[in-house]
Amino acid sequence: MADIESLLREKRVFKPDPAFAKQANWGPKKLAELRRLAARSPERFWERMAKEYVSWFRPWKKALDWKPPFAKWFVGAQTNVSYNCIDRHLEGEHAWRRNKAAIIWEGEPGDSRVLTFADLHREVCKFANVLLAQGVKKGDRVAIYMPMIPEIAIAMLACTRIGAPHTVVFGGFSADALRDRIVDLGAKLVVTADGGWRRGKIVELKDAVDEAVAGTKGVERVIVVRRTGEPVPMKAGRDLWWHDVMAQAPATRPAAKLDAEHPLFVLYTSGSTGKPKGILHTTGGYLTHVAATTHAIFDLKESDTFWCTADVGWVTGHSYVLYGPLANGATTVMYEGAPNHPGLDRFWAIIEKYRVSVLYTAPTAIRTFIRWGDEHPNRHDLSSLRLLGTVGEPINPEAWMWYHRVIGKKRCPIVDTWWQTETGGVLVSPLPGAVATKPGSCTLPFPGVEPRVVNVAGEPTKPGQGGFLTLQKPWPGMLRGIWGDAARYREQYWSRYPKVYFTGDGAQCDEDGYFWVMGRVDDVMNVSGHRIGTMEVESALVSHPGVAEAAVVGRPDEITGTAIVAFVTPKSGTHANATLRETLRSHVSREIGALARPAEVRFTDALPKTRSGKIMRRLLRDVASGKETVQDTTTLEDLSVLARLRGQEEA
Ligand code: ATP
Ligand code: MG
Repeated sequence: MADIESLLREKRVFKPDPAFAKQANWGPKKLAELRRLAARSPERFWERMAKEYVSWFRPWKKALDWKPPFAKWFVGAQTNVSYNCIDRHLEGEHAWRRNKAAIIWEGEPGDSRVLTFADLHREVCKFANVLLAQGVKKGDRVAIYMPMIPEIAIAMLACTRIGAPHTVVFGGFSADALRDRIVDLGAKLVVTADGGWRRGKIVELKDAVDEAVAGTKGVERVIVVRRTGEPVPMKAGRDLWWHDVMAQAPATRPAAKLDAEHPLFVLYTSGSTGKPKGILHTTGGYLTHVAATTHAIFDLKESDTFWCTADVGWVTGHSYVLYGPLANGATTVMYEGAPNHPGLDRFWAIIEKYRVSVLYTAPTAIRTFIRWGDEHPNRHDLSSLRLLGTVGEPINPEAWMWYHRVIGKKRCPIVDTWWQTETGGVLVSPLPGAVATKPGSCTLPFPGVEPRVVNVAGEPTKPGQGGFLTLQKPWPGMLRGIWGDAARYREQYWSRYPKVYFTGDGAQCDEDGYFWVMGRVDDVMNVSGHRIGTMEVESALVSHPGVAEAAVVGRPDEITGTAIVAFVTPKSGTHANATLRETLRSHVSREIGALARPAEVRFTDALPKTRSGKIMRRLLRDVASGKETVQDTTTLEDLSVLARLRGQEEA
């Protein structure tokens, strides 16, 4: 392992708009004060967040108990996530929120439902009672395998209400993937649906559950929501309809007083770099972290309509579709289906329909929209938008600029938020009223968080020099472990640098202290003795007007050690030919240096991605070097993409 070089130099800076700063939840003054507090003592800062953003049944005795690599936050305190997300909006000074929309839901076929906080309270209490009646006790695990319908939120919140840790398995996963997770966790009950809508077709979830559960012993009950109305087999003695059990359930159920460290959920990572890991999060610290970051970073006001487009099956969906916004008493939008159904403008139609004011999406989606063309967003009234966010991958500066120009109409600040399933919530991000942005940089750490780019020896790198992104101090939303595998937990995150968390990402920190994530350390390419990250070469490619998306990987080469192979998706209307291929190679050379010039450019209409939309470079490496893939492909979104890429290689 050697250090990483950084080649990209992005000079554009966008200062916060004074008008935005003035109304911001965390303006420059507040941020400066909180940074001072956090610099004196991160624990004191997080205690302040815990008091400000979370209601507790019992206070903590100690903010942090840190026995590396194991942290406990708010030791001795008691709280409940569903209480914080629902009940406290029905009483006291916020009682008026009772009839405020908590969830605005849009189904793919165009049906729509709104649940107020009072509605949510009733449904969550009922389902909590159902779970208890079906024998689910505090500490028992519940697997949730559902489409993006309001019942998924109800099921998750009901689990938190009684202290039954949930694991949400993304509805696009196969029966095998579901079974692995059910078995790993020893789940007792599964919540699912007869199906869900995706691109006009029914995703058959119940069949997958039957197949997954057939080979296991622990699952006693399967509860099925009727969504599509298609007939599904129901196994007597095991399967129950949601509407039947809900009809009999009492509508009240006090929230259990849970220890701050009570397990809240286990969620498996996206699997971009390898086999997914079962990440464990607990109650009080996680809630503090997501509630505070939601309020500060998304600047949510009572009047906002917040849409985080992530599936609830991913951590972004947990933290910023549900728990963060609801803990703040905000209105959150959920959409069931695909962005291209029935047309390529569905997202923009939804924004116009509900007057969405804060939009949070992923670079993969943004690059797809760029490829589809500006006419789709341009057909809609996007004037309700006031703030934009991104998460999931490094955003290429030109994609950032497109988001700024075409969606934000140059009015909306952009928050590029860096975090991981493991971190629970955002750790590095601009605060929209207080931090100037630079396209492609996630900017500065949230107060109380101490990221550091270090070299192989663990020493801080100089400004502009690439290295390994680490977190020097524990934070409340951090994972508490990998479910049932303490050894893997230590090995994966804590073995490279003692007592320091290693993120697995490469990054550089510039003269202003801004962080630039350069991609996964596993994806770094070693060209003629220079170690180059993927993001910078890809950004150089995406900065060409004909390119929508690019992924680069290394292929073994006799002369240079590694040759760069670029997989490029052109924008619609671009002629992908030999001339463009040559143009792109010289373009990269000119933008960031001859060193990074791809040896080969291959055009493709799609890249292999995880189901959460991240490019899987580990699979492209096999394609580039003509090897068979023996790696885990269960998280791949579309297997045929790999086959197509291979076919092209032979042609
Ligand atoms: P696995 O760990 O199984 O490979 P994964 O890392 O893709 O899966 P996630 O936890 O969903 O699973 O993704 C976190 C990763 O996403 C980060 O480590 C980082 O590489 C990338 N990422 C997220 N947000 C950003 C961002 N704003 N800028 C750059 N990279 C980001
Ligand atoms: Mg990861």
